Formats: sequence, C-alpha cells, structure tokens
Amino acid sequence: MSDLKNTPLKISNVTIQPGERITLALPTPEIYTFAPMYIPIHIIHGKRTGPTLLVCGTLHGDEINGVAISQKLLNLRLLKSLKGTLIVIPAINVYGMMTLSRNLPDRRDLEGNFPGSKTGSFASRLAYLLREEIFSHITHCIDLHTGESNIVKFPQVKTSLENEENRSLAKAFNAPVMLDVPPEQGLLWLSKQDERPIPTIIYEVGEGLRLDAQGIKIGVNGVVRVMKTLNMIKDTAKQKKTHGSIPLEKAHMVRASFSGLSELFAKVGSFVSKGDKVAKITDPFGTEQRGEVLAPCSGVVIAKNNLPILNEGEPILQIAEMKQTSIDKIQSWTDEGKEGVKFEPF
Ligand SMILES: [Zn+2]
Repeated sequence: MSDLKNTPLKISNVTIQPGERITLALPTPEIYTFAPMYIPIHIIHGKRTGPTLLVCGTLHGDEINGVAISQKLLNLRLLKSLKGTLIVIPAINVYGMMTLSRNLPDRRDLEGNFPGSKTGSFASRLAYLLREEIFSHITHCIDLHTGESNIVKFPQVKTSLENEENRSLAKAFNAPVMLDVPPEQGLLWLSKQDERPIPTIIYEVGEGLRLDAQGIKIGVNGVVRVMKTLNMIKDTAKQKKTHGSIPLEKAHMVRASFSGLSELFAKVGSFVSKGDKVAKITDPFGTEQRGEVLAPCSGVVIAKNNLPILNEGEPILQIAEMKQTSIDKIQSWTDEGKEGVKFEPF
C-alpha cells in the first residue's frame, strides 16, 4: 500500500500534488473587529502513499513549545523521502499567541469545544472549521502542549491508554512517561469518533510562555519515532536506547492547605514517598510557618507550580503513582538530547 503513487490532495480549495510542499493560510471565523486572521498550515504531500499525520501546537495560545517542535520538525532533511502526508500547524490559536493568552477571542478554551458546530460560538466554529478542513483528511494526530503559565510539566504523553491504537502511538512516541486520561480531553475526542476514530496523543512539556530545550528535543524525536513506526520515513539516525515510556495510571493534584508563600522541596521528574514533606507554607508578611504539605502517595512529580504565592486550595504539585524502582528509568532521560535526530539547538 505504502509504495503506491500518491494522488493529489485538496485542502481548503487548494490542490497539492504528490511530492509538493506548501504553506496554506486558513482563514479563521470572523471576529467583531473584522480584522482578518489566518492559521498557517504546512503540508508535505509525499510522492508515495502512506498515513496522513497531523502535528499541531499552541491550541492554547501561551504554550509555545509546540511552535518550536514544529519549526525543528519542518527543517528535518528526512522529510524529503516522506511516504504519506505530514500536516503541521505550529499554532492553532494564533490570536492567543498574539495576546499571550490561553483562550480565543471569545475568551473560550478551544479544548472544550470539539467537535464544534457551524453556527456556534467563535470557539465552536473554529473547532468545526478544523474538523471539516483538516481533521477529515488525517489518519493520526499528535497534539503538542505546554504547561500553563507558571506550571512546569515533566515530558509526558497523555492519551486514553485503553484504546489500543492510542497506546501504540504513545509507545512509539516514547516520552519518559505516558499518562492515562479520559478521551474527552481536547483533541483526544478524535480517537473516540464512532464513524472514523483517529489515533491521537497529546505531548506536554515545560512551562507556558517559555521554551524547554530538552522537552523540544524529546518532542521532535517523538514525532520522528511515530513517523518511523508508521513507515512514513526511514530514519538512520542513532536513537538512544531507552527503557520505554512508563505508563502511569493515576495522578494526584497536591494543593496548598494554607494561603501564603510556598517553598517547594520536590523537583519535577523526582520520586517522592508517601508522607514526604514536599513544601512548606509561610506567612508572606511575617516569619510564621503556617504549615507543611505532605505527599499523598508515592510516585513521580509530573508537574509543579512555579508561582510561590498561593491561595489555599491552589495546586502546588502533581504526583503520579509509581513504584520507586522505576525512577532510574525516568532519570535516564536526562541524557536524552545527545542522540537522535540532529538539529540546531536554541
Ligand atoms: Zn494546553
């Protein structure tokens, strides 16, 4: 199948010939200032048939790592012999990227608006537009995210792991850990469509409004591994041998039990045992210690809040349950970035 000659592809009234690489500007639904807004979309249509993989970033406008992963990916020479089609959208939420905000012009979060509707809100119309113009063409999807502003995420793939095809895509991506989440989250709805489920994973790393060089490297290598597994490319670069992505089934949000100034003792990617002191909270206007925060379970820290001034109940850490014996496997990832595909670092 994958050695057959490809046929022309029509997206948004543009016809792309086999072997052609184009950048398309997809107009968004209209906003009240009538200022035109476009989503830049790169399409590399291989000479030979194969899967159609969508790699998209910055669905949330303040999450920039997906833009950087897309940029590095688009510069790879190995795409020259691509089988199938690669569609790369560095930033879905162009408006949010301009305003450094998570949401769309109507203040809605696109993530909660799929599959969308033709006559709904701006967010719903944008979701519908993407469904009609882009998702209708794809066979696989990698959705690139970053932590929110002030929140740092350990490199992780999120998907519904009970879905066999999602799981094999997550395994192929090979991030340090993979987290089981309901298929309701964001673009994961693609994998639960009855008529044509599309295997989908979310890769999340780093902090909003910041670039994470190591996480970008893991991201680019992850996409390359997926394309290799799908027989879209032949990658001769030496990939670092890893222990494989560790599946994590249950994550706990650790919240501030008191308002005040928090001092964190646990690092992202480190192991904590149940009952360990992970933070202390003090009075920001005095010297009094207000309390300690203890780990509710043993596991690996997969997210942390970098903002040290907190109201009670706000998240401090996220810990995913894991056995201590797995931490060496996770920490071996600190060497990731020395091997794999080659590109200029930031
Ligand atoms: Zn996000």
